[in-house]
Amino acid sequence: MSLIITDECINCDVCEPECPNEAISQGEEIYVIEPSKCTECIGHYDEPQCQQVCPVDCIPLDPSRRETEEQLMEKYLVLTGQL
Ligand code: SF4
Ligand code: SF4
Repeated sequence: MSLIITDECINCDVCEPECPNEAISQGEEIYVIEPSKCTECIGHYDEPQCQQVCPVDCIPLDPSRRETEEQLMEKYLVLTGQL
């Protein structure tokens, strides 16, 4: 399941460079995550890197985008050109 940035985001810019999939970008008002690029960091790291660095803890999992670990790994392989 992809992560989502809530409106508690303070636009601190810290998470964007940490994402290994370049899934995070500045949106109209706050930063946003492109769900098709977010793998929960599976394939790159053990923990979601954006969650680790966010100072206001505003990047939960998005329950409307449920994916299994296998689906996330497949997404990682596609994004990195290995599939
Ligand atoms: S969980 Fe990982 S892949 Fe998803 S947006 Fe955060 S840093 Fe990027
Ligand atoms: S680290 Fe958190 S507060 Fe900072 S831009 Fe990213 S989502 Fe927003």
